Amino acid sequence: MADYKEIIKLAEEGGLGKEEEKLIEKACEFAKRAHEGQKRMSGEPYFSHCLETAKILARLGMDAKTIAAGLLHDVLEDTKIKEEEMQKEFGDDIVFLVNGVTKLGTLKYRGHERHVESLRKFFVAMANDLRVVIIKFADRLHNLQTLEFVPEEKRKRIALESIEVYAPLANRLGMGKLKGEIENTAFPYAYPKEYAEVEEIIKERKDVYQKQLMEVKEVLEKELAKSKIKTSEMTYRLKNKYSLYKKLLKYNMDIEKIYDIVALRVVVNTVAQCYQVLGVIHSLWKPMPGRIKDYIALPKPNGYRSLHTTVIIGGGGIAEIQIRTRDMHAEAAYGIAAHFAYKEQGEKKVKDDKTKFKWIEELKELNYTPDQPKKFLENLKMDFFSDRIFVFTPKGDVVDLPTGSSSIDFAYNIHSDIGDHISGAKINGKMSQIFTELKNGDIVEIVDKKDAHPSGKWLDHTKSSVAKKHIRSYLEKNSLLSKLKSYGKW
Ligand code: MN
Repeated sequence: MADYKEIIKLAEEGGLGKEEEKLIEKACEFAKRAHEGQKRMSGEPYFSHCLETAKILARLGMDAKTIAAGLLHDVLEDTKIKEEEMQKEFGDDIVFLVNGVTKLGTLKYRGHERHVESLRKFFVAMANDLRVVIIKFADRLHNLQTLEFVPEEKRKRIALESIEVYAPLANRLGMGKLKGEIENTAFPYAYPKEYAEVEEIIKERKDVYQKQLMEVKEVLEKELAKSKIKTSEMTYRLKNKYSLYKKLLKYNMDIEKIYDIVALRVVVNTVAQCYQVLGVIHSLWKPMPGRIKDYIALPKPNGYRSLHTTVIIGGGGIAEIQIRTRDMHAEAAYGIAAHFAYKEQGEKKVKDDKTKFKWIEELKELNYTPDQPKKFLENLKMDFFSDRIFVFTPKGDVVDLPTGSSSIDFAYNIHSDIGDHISGAKINGKMSQIFTELKNGDIVEIVDKKDAHPSGKWLDHTKSSVAKKHIRSYLEKNSLLSKLKSYGKW
């Protein structure tokens, strides 16, 4: 099969038009000629990397221009072809994308500072055109897939960078499938010993859990048929190995505490049916308290929607079940890429995404000071990479905070003045200390007093950078004042 046909076959479901197929064929030939004679470390022709990158993009359902740019992504950097020539052949849009990817690639990880600088570039590129970042993801994924041919001392660095930077970003964009693939491919190179451990655990447990779920599935299928609820799909999903490892770390490597190594996934047609299925499940088995998650009413910040529940089945067994509609299913896998898919795309859609992913704009505004790279990275990790909780005002407005936040964070996120004067908080109607850690779903009412003010201790009990910023600036101002006052005394 001709190379370009492989791509088109993968993209088929989205239905490429004739023009688009031609574009891909042309980009294929152009890239192949440009890289003629060059080889990958694996010994394969260099073009194989371009082709595989494009195939990943096709599988993600990206539009033809993005796929073409994927084929051409290393041409300007690694061959003699000049920008003008590419511009003449493929137009401004594709040259813009290729240039974007090239710029992202030129800054290599060299110690902490470099790392942060390249991160910052990433975000700016992302806010300008997300397709650039998605091509970079595909490029990185294929490089990971061929990591065994890279010298050993470089392998670990690339693998770690993929896990620490690329995967969280893919996750933040809702691209669960890509995130999982990046993590799973990088995991054995980044943490070989731990990888072997996880493999062992999975081998031991997988069959038991799978057998349990099979029984659950049978019972559930019968019951849903009785209630005349049509499901369009019911499958198992095996937790990705790296996520499992992270979860094991959280629970001191105690496998007994992890219930979702294998989960049953029920896909239905409407949101109403999601809740109906949940009702049927809970009438069959008792849910474990605290493990019913309604990500439909309260989607995760990356847009993930689903109902999750963990139920207690016979014989001490436990099963996690996830319920979602078809749309949610596609979105959970492809996230933002789903919004770029094929033709219906275009200007308007891209604009919508900008409002949906407001945090990308916020990232650009995050104060980046080159002399304090560590601080920038901390802010980033805090606000954008870690898990979030959703807390409510008494009126029902949602405030999105980093996990571990206190009422002080909540107050500052409403208004700096409220933060500066918080003296207490009612959490779910009960008077609480301002340092009390908030939980997902808490309703918080701030009690403020004119003479209340921040102290250094507050910094230990806040997580959001907004709160920390205001507390620090208050403290700075005040220490200056007290210094001035003490001068007066002299
Ligand atoms: Mn490349």
